Amino acid sequence: MIQSPLLEHRTGYVAGAFLPPHAGPRFVVHDPATGEPLAELPSYGAADTDAAIAAAATVLAAPPASLETRAGWLRAIAAAQLAHQDELARIITLENGKPLAEARGEVAYAAGFYQVAADSIDALAPRTLAQRPRGLTWTVYARPAGVAGLITPWNFPLAMLAKKLAGALAAGAPAVIKPAELTPLAPLALVHLIDRLDLPPGMVNLVFGDAPAIGAALCAHPAVRVISFTGSTRVGQLLASQAAPHVKRLALELGGNAPLIVFDDADVAVAVEQLMASKFRCAGQTCVSANRIYVQAGIAEAFTHAIAARVRALKVGHGLEPGTQVGPLIDRGAAAKVDRLVGDAVARGARVVVGEPAQPDTGFRAPTVLADVQPGMALLTEEVFGPVVPLVTFATEAEVVAAANATEYGLAAYVFTADPARGARVAAALRFGHVALNNASGPTPEAPFGGMKSSGYGREGGVEGLLEFVELQTVPSA
Ligand code: NAP
Repeated sequence: MIQSPLLEHRTGYVAGAFLPPHAGPRFVVHDPATGEPLAELPSYGAADTDAAIAAAATVLAAPPASLETRAGWLRAIAAAQLAHQDELARIITLENGKPLAEARGEVAYAAGFYQVAADSIDALAPRTLAQRPRGLTWTVYARPAGVAGLITPWNFPLAMLAKKLAGALAAGAPAVIKPAELTPLAPLALVHLIDRLDLPPGMVNLVFGDAPAIGAALCAHPAVRVISFTGSTRVGQLLASQAAPHVKRLALELGGNAPLIVFDDADVAVAVEQLMASKFRCAGQTCVSANRIYVQAGIAEAFTHAIAARVRALKVGHGLEPGTQVGPLIDRGAAAKVDRLVGDAVARGARVVVGEPAQPDTGFRAPTVLADVQPGMALLTEEVFGPVVPLVTFATEAEVVAAANATEYGLAAYVFTADPARGARVAAALRFGHVALNNASGPTPEAPFGGMKSSGYGREGGVEGLLEFVELQTVPSA
């Protein structure tokens, strides 16, 4: 069991207080590397969610806090996260499995969203038009949209929450947070830190447990006006249908199937370096992870050798062991999915360049490189969400753009070429919300990030991420 000064209370948090223990159902959080239990938590349902929403709604009954006050909350949360970076990172590694250095990076990255929201908050100030149409003074106010339901996944327990909570707090929208069942401990630790700050009771609430019941309650309650969700396209579709009768705003950050394209003229060393960073973060379990690697024929052999050498050298282990670069997958189901996709590819003619047979009794999977990957193999159409590099050889620009776009997803893409004109042309032709040129950077707190097509809609980060949680109200005044 985990001991931590940031996990003194093991319950939800409503109206500025940790909930008393209840006698209802409970669930256990495990270390995915060892299978050992870390904590047992109460499982909340519709009634507890309604109570959390009611607490949040009381905040809206009072006049909204000033922008300056909200910026102060955001800066205080960023500072508290950074002051407890090591302990928060340890909790993330234990419940998620990612290497400790990555978890420390996640804490800093998450803090950045609160900091940037504070720095950008003037974008929400009332704006009076310079013109006086119809002889009136027109002012546009960014009002808090209402209670915000924030539903987050397990792969970045703090960062995915930060992207949402920072925007909601900046907007003055009180939040009901529902973290993933597999990784609720880092969000619970964050709430311990928030509890020590000067936010109004009810501004931040936390429930976990029965996801379908909590999701349905958030969609049905009239006080909830925004649902911000990061997770699978399947659950995003369900939430969209549940929210539709109430005409609620949704921000949906859903699945990805990122292509990484390397043209003959690219710097192979740079492309390999960047692919390693994109592919093996969180053992390949990120929505922006390079999933389909398209390499032009002229450099295919050199690229395959170079990436194979790097992948062979990766150290797999428990995230708390010094030097670990790849941790376990989140659970046995995730490992089984990787086995299925690799097995399908090999059965259809893919060649294993690096990799070992599956280890069915553990959640760990060996980093793998597959060559001769062809259209029709399942790992080109599904998110692998594991440490697998599938290499596809292509001949022409038109061919690779068509192949990259041949997916229902449109989140992130990466292009490597020495020709700036080609880079600009290919970026414009790719239907992805994020296209990185000659790098494989994922999102940053300063810029908007989000998907096209079945990867969802809405944006997180930048000024745009704040606008998801406000309603604009126009006041023409005589
Ligand atoms: P998931 O199964 O959709 O779960 C995400 C969250 O939704 C969890 O908190 C889960 O709760 C909750 N949930 C499950 N069923 C629900 C329901 N019926 N109503 C309301 N909430 C429900 O996704 P995941 O497997 O955890 O996350 C991986 C997916 O997230 C991948 O597809 C990945 O690409 C995507 N992702 C996207 C982004 C992005 O920025 N676009 C970022 C990260 C991840 P429980 O855990 O309690 O079941």
